[in-house]
Amino acid sequence: MIEARDAVRSFGQTPALRGATVAVAPGEILAIMGPSGSGKSTLLHCLAGILVPDSGEIHFDGRRLDTMDEAARSALRRDRFGFVFQFGQLVPELTAEENVALPLLLGGVRRDAALRQARPWFGRLGLDGLERRRSGELSGGQAQRVALARGLVTSPKVLFADEPTGSLDSLTGEQVMDQMVGAAREHGTTVVLVTHEARVAAYADRHVMVRDGKVAALTPERVLS
Ligand code: ATP
Ligand code: MG
Repeated sequence: MIEARDAVRSFGQTPALRGATVAVAPGEILAIMGPSGSGKSTLLHCLAGILVPDSGEIHFDGRRLDTMDEAARSALRRDRFGFVFQFGQLVPELTAEENVALPLLLGGVRRDAALRQARPWFGRLGLDGLERRRSGELSGGQAQRVALARGLVTSPKVLFADEPTGSLDSLTGEQVMDQMVGAAREHGTTVVLVTHEARVAAYADRHVMVRDGKVAALTPERVLS
């Protein structure tokens, strides 16, 4: 359903992707692993239409993301994709529920309807009672779960997660992963997960390794070694 074909992308003189090819099936949880600086985030951003490759193709549900104009690409991102990053990137001045509702508000949903749609996520993710808390006053684990709720609130087709547990201790990270994978399985959401941690990657159905800007398959034995 989402695919990069021979994607090449440089930043100035720095090559980040040197012909990356990967396909993600509907409902699949794919882990992208690999050393620091190998091009994982760049690949994720290209798959998600945040970055456009210099050459190569990005396909999503039969459409080309790389040749689409920016307005169409950003509408597609908003309507079909959800995002969770290493540091939740919440707006600290907004309450937790306003942060979760944000993608809906940006999509033109009215405030009361958006907040109503945001609320069930608090129960689902063990955040009851924190709806009105300013995001800047949440713990790291709470903030990351709010970020996860924000990533899922639009019922995206694909959830892109870049080191979603990177700033958390291992127990909290496990809880966030349990909830992320639970919600994804329940809704049939495809997940593209970047992680360098074997125990986070263990949640995925399949693993690939990015090395020097290229993608290689990774067997489960190697992931866990
Ligand atoms: P990490 O595990 O540390 O997050 P990564 O595998 O996600 O690393 P990328 O962020 O994709 O790696 O970076 C790949 C290469 O591209 C690196 O050499 C990086 O320095 C470079 N790079 C990435 N983003 C930019 C940018 N915005 N400007 C300049 N260089 C960049
Ligand atoms: Mg990265």
